[in-house]
Amino acid sequence: MILDVSALLSGKVDVLEFDYIIPLLDEEGEATILPPPDVDFTSGIHICGRITDNAGYMALKASCEIGYRTACARCLTDLEGTFCYEFEKIAAKAGTIEGDEDNYVMITEGRLDLDRDVAEEVSLEFPTRFLCSEECLGLCPKCGKNRNLEPCDCANQKEIDPRLAILQKLLENQ
Ligand SMILES: [Zn+2]
Ligand SMILES: [Zn+2]
Repeated sequence: MILDVSALLSGKVDVLEFDYIIPLLDEEGEATILPPPDVDFTSGIHICGRITDNAGYMALKASCEIGYRTACARCLTDLEGTFCYEFEKIAAKAGTIEGDEDNYVMITEGRLDLDRDVAEEVSLEFPTRFLCSEECLGLCPKCGKNRNLEPCDCANQKEIDPRLAILQKLLENQ
């Protein structure tokens, strides 16, 4: 969505609030944000925040939420949740900033289009893996059982197939 910030620029208002949803597909049907492998996004990006004008210094503060569906990295159980991310930037007129523009969003002719920046930000901050719980015990490398649901006796049995021992090590290190 394009925000009209002309009232802020002209000094008519000091604060401009916004609250809207960036859909997963833009008007051309292109993805606005691509999910990482093994993740599906279940909602658009809900963004809400405000721009505050402090004598020409425009501070933008926003929080974003996006719904996702994925699987636990250890036990492969389906997970659903909402990823939340907050950020702050400075809104400045395009062409007035030199050098590093990462901390800025650009106003062009009284308009501010945050969608691309927000999608990029959320995509960068989105976790690379999820766990159903920090204490998730994962799958047993020997019998394949979900050790959160059903304890197995494999760890107490002495002879472990050497090929599985390697897998067990890998799983334990996760
Ligand atoms: Zn798990
Ligand atoms: Zn087992």
